[in-house]
Amino acid sequence: MDSGHIVIVGAGQAGTQTAEALRSGGYTGAITMLGDEPHGPYHRPPLSKAWLAGEIGEAQLIMRAPEMLAKKGITLRTGVTVEAIDRAAQQVRLAGGETLAYTGLVLATGSTPRSLPLPGIGAPNVLPLRSKDDASAIAARLATCAERSLPVLVIGGGFIGLEVAATARKKGLAVTVLEAAPRLLGRVLAPLLSDWYAALHRAHGVNLVLEARIASIELDAAGEACAVLMADGSRHPCGLVVLGVGVAANDQLAAACGLACDRGIVVDDCTRTADPRIVAAGDCTARRLADGSLLRLESVQNATEQGKSAAAALLGQPRPFTATPWFWSDQYDRKLQMAGLSGGADAWAVRGDMAAGTSFSVYHFRAGRLIAVDSVNAAKDHLQARKLLDAGVSPTPEQAGDVGFDLGTLVPKG
Ligand code: FAD
Ligand code: NAP
Repeated sequence: MDSGHIVIVGAGQAGTQTAEALRSGGYTGAITMLGDEPHGPYHRPPLSKAWLAGEIGEAQLIMRAPEMLAKKGITLRTGVTVEAIDRAAQQVRLAGGETLAYTGLVLATGSTPRSLPLPGIGAPNVLPLRSKDDASAIAARLATCAERSLPVLVIGGGFIGLEVAATARKKGLAVTVLEAAPRLLGRVLAPLLSDWYAALHRAHGVNLVLEARIASIELDAAGEACAVLMADGSRHPCGLVVLGVGVAANDQLAAACGLACDRGIVVDDCTRTADPRIVAAGDCTARRLADGSLLRLESVQNATEQGKSAAAALLGQPRPFTATPWFWSDQYDRKLQMAGLSGGADAWAVRGDMAAGTSFSVYHFRAGRLIAVDSVNAAKDHLQARKLLDAGVSPTPEQAGDVGFDLGTLVPKG
């Protein structure tokens, strides 16, 4: 591989991690990272949180400056879209027709926000949030809403929707959140935490509508969204609609060149596809688990760890990524940290005072085994939980719920 050319499609979290891990793993051949955005690698998480709130500036979004990448011998080309992969010829074709030969190919194409088939959805103030440019457009519209005292309408009570809602409330704007499901963050949180988040947002003045059925978006004479109309006839006026209704993996390039895709590029725990020269990492993947099921994770940790595994696989030193998944979300002054996957839990234990809401953790159990821990302003519980889950060690629900019991004593030493 040392005399080769590794091409990375996507200059985001996973692509950047892969490029740097190739170098730290000893690869001395050429690396080209291609990104279709006009920017070099940047951090997405602050786009809905500190950056949107105006608490940090542009410079703090930068993940890796292009000159840093250049120093490592990584060629970054921005504003470049890969349009096709020719696996037989081992080359990618760029928009405009240029082709690039590869000896190894990394697909790190991320995901794209979903839209909704609603009349009015194409209005210029109906905006998704994925990229820096999306965030800039939303920031400008928030400023207009503030100037004109117009409410912000958020569709989707997932991470994007709730983080934007919290940020807009911090700015003093009126906010309505419309969530189709009967509870918030239904894909990731247990019902008791969904209810806690609903209460938190309502306490901060958010008008939260669950089981929301949207009929259409009403446009004003200028073609801008001015209200969201509901199936029950109610109407929510607005100056901005933020869409946070989930994402779809960018697996089209892989599917078109015959790689297996199933709502994501199918990879093993070492990020390998069926083509020995092609690996995939990050939001664009669906990982095949030992029981045959597929796991899609959309998080910084997943992109980072799969990036390291992708580099290792190309260097012929497979490195399975099997560590406990973890995520975080900042809303108001609460930091939620999640370790493990809580789906399928059949018992729960709460550690700390959930009613007071200042610092607590919810421990999720399935058949008596700990499977996940969600911590709110409880960093120590979170770090301990990751150690317990990584080691496959389970407290009893009684131990988990007893603040007098030191869970640290269960963590294997060394
Ligand atoms: P991306 O970072 O999306 O990078 C993929 C890149 O590939 C993009 O720039 C894309 O434009 C480019 N690309 C796609 N197709 C092509 C092509 N054909 N040619 C060239 N380039 C292409 N996760 C957390 O864990 N915690 C958080 O708090 C958190 N907050 C978030 C807040 C926001 C607003 C958003 C949008 C995401 C957040 N996430 C968070 C999710 C996290 O950012 C993603 O899981 C992570 O960025 C995935 O990295 P990636 O490299 O797979 O994809
Ligand atoms: P998400 O977490 O999948 O949440 C989307 C929400 O929108 C779901 O609750 C969904 O409900 C709801 N929804 C779907 N259709 C709807 C409709 N017609 N009307 C009202 N609500 C509807 O996705 P997201 O919040 O858009 O986030 C996008 C991506 O960014 C994800 O990859 C996410 O992980 C990432 N992100 C992560 C963080 C973090 O980790 N802190 C922060 C921001 C973004 P159903 O579940 O019922 O469909």
